[in-house]
Amino acid sequence: MGSIPGISINRYTPPLPPRGNPFVTGGLATGAAPLSAYNQAGSVVQTSQDQAILQQALTLLGQVRHLPGDDEYLKRMGVYPVFQNGQQALQLIQQKGIRVEFGDMGDSPAHAQWIAEQNRIMINQRYRGDSSPATLYAISEALYHEAGHAAGNGDDQSSIQEELNCLALNTLAHRFHRVINPYYGQSVAHSPLLSDGVTLYAQLFFDPDPQKRALIRRVVQKYGDLPLESPGHPVPRLLSVPRSTGPINAPAPLAQQIKTAYWLQQVSRPINPISQALQPATFPAS
Ligand SMILES: [Zn+2]
Repeated sequence: MGSIPGISINRYTPPLPPRGNPFVTGGLATGAAPLSAYNQAGSVVQTSQDQAILQQALTLLGQVRHLPGDDEYLKRMGVYPVFQNGQQALQLIQQKGIRVEFGDMGDSPAHAQWIAEQNRIMINQRYRGDSSPATLYAISEALYHEAGHAAGNGDDQSSIQEELNCLALNTLAHRFHRVINPYYGQSVAHSPLLSDGVTLYAQLFFDPDPQKRALIRRVVQKYGDLPLESPGHPVPRLLSVPRSTGPINAPAPLAQQIKTAYWLQQVSRPINPISQALQPATFPAS
């Protein structure tokens, strides 16, 4: 097996912190807000226009296919797309009776949210009233991501591995839409749903940088504090350790690299308050 895109050599991995409190599954733009903040955020009354927009987005979701080779490319990084195509996600939404609605997400920058106890996928109401093709595509991609969280046991607890698996979904859908509609995504200025969400991750996952440093930086920033893995989303073992290099140079799954980078970031933070406390006391001259 040849070189593995997106994988840097494995470095020393510090011990992982204990799992913290459950976090909400993080939409496309955030991953670390407490669930209660969103529970308090209210529903908004769905207008017939809202329903028409979301129905069109669901229809687009059901048409999504993965481009040849994309799944294999992601799996070599240790990222496993939750579905084989958009039809599977659409069927899951229908079979589980998941409500898809616009919702008031307060000040949250998240584009969308899976809320397990409400069996609901919420799209940020900032995107209401926009039936442009670009926004419909982008909502369908966000739905693909959130349906990934709803799959399996569909709990509220996410992880770095789970986010990667779901970020892969919006990335795959975005790449498909770019092929069937070459004009889509060329102008992203009007919508953070595109520029900060679906378009961004398509660029980051398929960055020519073989070490995927920009992707790692972004996921560290957004999801680094989540547990490494969660039920149904174990960190995969990457195989094919070259004999010549041995296990020390074995590629690390992307989620592991992200957790390691997050940890290194934490331990290298300035600790001024502590170091100041350890300074010898000084006394005014008497
Ligand atoms: Zn997510």
